[in-house]
Amino acid sequence: MQNKVRKLAIIIGSGPSGLMAAEQLALKGLEVLVVERKPSLARKFLMAGKSGLNLTNDDKIEEFTTKFYEASEWIDPILKNFCPKDVVKWAESLNENLFVGSSGRVFPVAMKASPILRSWIIKLKGEGVSFKTGWNWTGWKGDDLCFDTPEGSNLIRPSVTVLCLGGGSWPRLGSNGLWVDVLEKEGVEVEELKSANVGLLIPWSKKVEVHFGKPLKNIAFSSGNLVSRGEAVISKKGLEGSAIYSMTKSIWNGNKLMVDLLPDLTENVILHKINQRKSKISFSNFLRKSLKLSSQKITLFYEFGIPLPKDNESLAFVLKNLQINHQGPGLLDDAISTSGGVKKKSFNNNLMLNARPGVFVAGEMLDWEAPTGGYLLTACLSLGYWAGINAAKWVNS
Ligand SMILES: Cc1cc2nc3c(=O)[nH]c(=O)nc-3n(C[C@H](O)[C@H](O)[C@H](O)COP(=O)(O)OP(=O)(O)OC[C@H]3O[C@@H](n4cnc5c(N)ncnc54)[C@H](O)[C@@H]3O)c2cc1C
Repeated sequence: MQNKVRKLAIIIGSGPSGLMAAEQLALKGLEVLVVERKPSLARKFLMAGKSGLNLTNDDKIEEFTTKFYEASEWIDPILKNFCPKDVVKWAESLNENLFVGSSGRVFPVAMKASPILRSWIIKLKGEGVSFKTGWNWTGWKGDDLCFDTPEGSNLIRPSVTVLCLGGGSWPRLGSNGLWVDVLEKEGVEVEELKSANVGLLIPWSKKVEVHFGKPLKNIAFSSGNLVSRGEAVISKKGLEGSAIYSMTKSIWNGNKLMVDLLPDLTENVILHKINQRKSKISFSNFLRKSLKLSSQKITLFYEFGIPLPKDNESLAFVLKNLQINHQGPGLLDDAISTSGGVKKKSFNNNLMLNARPGVFVAGEMLDWEAPTGGYLLTACLSLGYWAGINAAKWVNS
């Protein structure tokens, strides 16, 4: 009896979304090939592991899906289909022990990505998935996918394709956004790729230099209708840290960035304290002793508050509403993630491109955005899962 020839699915990109799509297609009986332009797999996932690998968030699913701004509407069913609890089960099935850290962030106890990636690749190979590294996808010739490979150029015509090419942040890890031109030529609409979850560029004056690398603890940033309380770090380039990263979207939208240096005190309480200040105590000593501001916060206050207002009411106001002057969000090269990508109107609810039936898209290359906190990797895994099962359905139908 002859063996039945299996249909070929090609996944381009070996990040979390690509590997998840590959697994779903293999489980549905397709022959699966994952192609990666870099010499090794999932480099950005491994890099995410350097900061502990925040896999998901313990939020209730209803809360979780609201973190995706405008994309919440279309991404909601996809996140509910493979939700944070499924991410936990998936990681545990790969022998990872997890723990819940601050603000519900879920991490592997190992605090790195290499063990989970190793187990996953072994599992995928066991399920029949094969891999080609050093293969760069350059577009289509008719219905064939074109690759530059170490052995020369190669054309392959699969039954179904899933593009999981990543965004444009940290391009040295592989996702360089060069796919934008290729897809736009096919009639796919792409929202400009911009940095998301990135530090803020600030041309500091000389007096701030002594604080480089030091934290600003317990502050609250606000911009537009976003508020974020936590910590930031003063760096040579400006400000870093998750509290500032979550302001990126609003800053790109042209909103001012304000900081509240004393989020635990009301303006009235601060005013009362200022009114009681003895005239022989300098204002900086008062800030340090009576308001307990750290030297970093005092420096920030003078950096952006000068010329200081003369009246006490305005001083109290500025301590709660200090406007940060800056040069905008940092570059894509330094960003944790990317905003922009393939617009929703260019793919259907199954993540198939309207312009290219049989070609599905998933992961950070789509037009959605979320803060740090485990939302990014979970969304990439959920989108990869959704693209994989729908690609399998399409090819089998
Ligand atoms: C420093 C850092 C820390 C992070 N930490 C976290 C974290 O703790 N938690 C979290 O949720 N998220 C984190 N992220 C974000 C997360 O890693 C990404 O959102 C996620 O990896 C995106 O997955 P993806 O599969 O869409 O794309 P990617 O992981 O970017 O994978 C895409 C792959 O496609 C390949 N590729 C691109 N073009 C081609 C081509 N033409 N031919 C062949 N292959 C191609 C690329 O080489 C790449 O390997 C972090 C990111 C960075 C940079």
